[in-house]
Amino acid sequence: MLNYDFRLDEVVQKINEMNAKAVGIQFPEGLKIHAVRVAEKIENETDAVVIISGDPCYGACDVSDTHMENLVDLIVHFGHIEFPIEYKVPVLFIEAYSKIEIDNVLKKSLPFLENYKKIGVVTTIQHLPLISQIGDFLAGSGKEVVMKEGAGTRKGQVLGCNFSAIKDVDADAFLFIGSGNFHALGITLFTEKPVFIADPYMNEVRTIDEFRDRILRIRFAKITKASDAQKFGIIVSSKRGQFRFDLAKSLKKMIDKEKREAFIIMLDNVSPDLLIPYMDLDAFVVTACPRVAIDDASMYKKPLLTPKELEIVLNKREWEDYKIDEIEHV
Ligand code: SF4
Repeated sequence: MLNYDFRLDEVVQKINEMNAKAVGIQFPEGLKIHAVRVAEKIENETDAVVIISGDPCYGACDVSDTHMENLVDLIVHFGHIEFPIEYKVPVLFIEAYSKIEIDNVLKKSLPFLENYKKIGVVTTIQHLPLISQIGDFLAGSGKEVVMKEGAGTRKGQVLGCNFSAIKDVDADAFLFIGSGNFHALGITLFTEKPVFIADPYMNEVRTIDEFRDRILRIRFAKITKASDAQKFGIIVSSKRGQFRFDLAKSLKKMIDKEKREAFIIMLDNVSPDLLIPYMDLDAFVVTACPRVAIDDASMYKKPLLTPKELEIVLNKREWEDYKIDEIEHV
C-alpha cells in the first residue's frame, strides 16, 4: 500500500488464529488515509468486524485500549513500536516501515559531513530497517559510524519524547534520517553537536541550526512572559503513555513553595480550545507529550511551558541548561 508496508498478511493471519470477532485498528494521523482500505481487507479475509479508531493518535503512548476494552478481541496499532506498559486488550503493533528510497539523500549528506569523522546515526521507527544500510554507506565513505540502543528504543532510534539513544554517544556530528525538525532539535540540544537532517520526503539535507535558534528565541520569550505568572495550570494527560501525575504533583509543590498557585487539569488531548475556560490562570505547564508545548506554541494565548521550562521560570535551572522534555517509559 503506497509507501508503507502494513504487513497485512501477518495481521490477517493473527486475527484468524485468534478467531477474533471484533478488531480495532488504529493509525497515526499521517497514515489514517489507509484505514478504510485496511479495514476492507481485514473484513474480506477474516470473520472479524473492524472498528477504526477515529481519535487523534500521535504515538504508541496513545493506544486506544481503554476506549475499546469491552468491544474488541484485538487492537492492531500501526506505525509505532510497543511501549512497555500493560494494555487492557491484546495489541498487535505493526511498525509500518516507509518504503521511500534514501540513497539520494545519503549521497547528498556527504558534503555536510566532510569535516567530521565519527558520525552518530539516528532515525525514527519508519526508517529503522535501513539503519545498517545507512551505516554501511557511511562506513564505505570513510566515516566511523556510532549508534546505541536507548532505554525503550532500538539502536539508533529516537522518539519525540525519548532521546536516550543519543546520550553519551561519542560522535563528532549526528545524521538524522527522517522528516521534520523536532527530533534533530532534541539531538542538538542534548548533545550540543552539529546535527544534519537527511530528509527523503523533501529530498534534501539541511542543518538544524536555524530552526534551533528560532525555537530557542520563542521558548525564551515564553519563559520570560511566564516569569510573572502567579497562577499556573498543570496539565496531565489521561493517555496512559503520557500520564505523569507524580510529576504534576511535584511541580504543584514546587510552585506552591514559591508562594504562587497551581491547579492540576486533566485532559485527554491537549488543545487551545480546551484551555479557554481557564482565563484566571496566567500560564500552563504541560506534563503530557513534550512536543505539544514546542510544536503548537503559536496556537496558545497564554504561555504553555514544559516542566523543564517551569524550572527555569522558578530559578531551579539555568537557561544555559535548556533541554527538551522527555518521558521515561522504562
Ligand atoms: S509522548 Fe509524544 S513524542 Fe512520545 S510517543 Fe507519544 S506522541 Fe510521540
